Amino acid sequence: MSIFSRFLPTRKPVEIKNNIPKEKANIRKTFGIYCHSHHKTSGDTLCPKCTALLATVMTKMNRCPYGITKPICDRCDRTVNCFGSKQAQEFLHVMGSSQKRMFLRHPIMAFKHKLASMGVDYAKYQQAKKIDDKVKAKEEASKKRAKDRKAKK
Ligand SMILES: [Zn+2]
Repeated sequence: MSIFSRFLPTRKPVEIKNNIPKEKANIRKTFGIYCHSHHKTSGDTLCPKCTALLATVMTKMNRCPYGITKPICDRCDRTVNCFGSKQAQEFLHVMGSSQKRMFLRHPIMAFKHKLASMGVDYAKYQQAKKIDDKVKAKEEASKKRAKDRKAKK
C-alpha cells in the first residue's frame, strides 16, 4: 500500500456526506487569496466587490437544489442556473485564477478539491451507467415479450 493510496478517491460505494462546510472554507480561502493579490487587501478583509460575490455564493450554496449531495459549485453543470451568467463568470474566474496559487499555498486542500471533483465525475458516470442498464433491460424484456407473443400464435 503506497502512501498515496489514502488520497485516492474511494471507488465503491459512493459515500454521501455533507461536504458543504469544507467547500465553503475552500471557496472562502480562494477568494481571500484572489482578492489579496488582485485588489490589494489583506488579512480577513476582502474588497466590497469580492465580499458581495462571496456572500452571494454562500447564499446560493445553501439553496442548492442538490442539497448535501451537491457537486462542487465550480464544477457543477448548474452553476449558471444558480448564479446567473455574469456572477457565474466572476465566480469561475476567481476560482480558476487562484487554482495555481492554491496549489502552492494549500497543496493538500487543492489536491483534495481535485480528487473530490473526480469523485463527482465517477458518481455521475455510475449514475449514467445505471440508467443505461435499466433502459437496456427494458428493451430486452419487451423483445422477449414480443417473441413470446409470436410463439403463442
Ligand atoms: Zn477583491
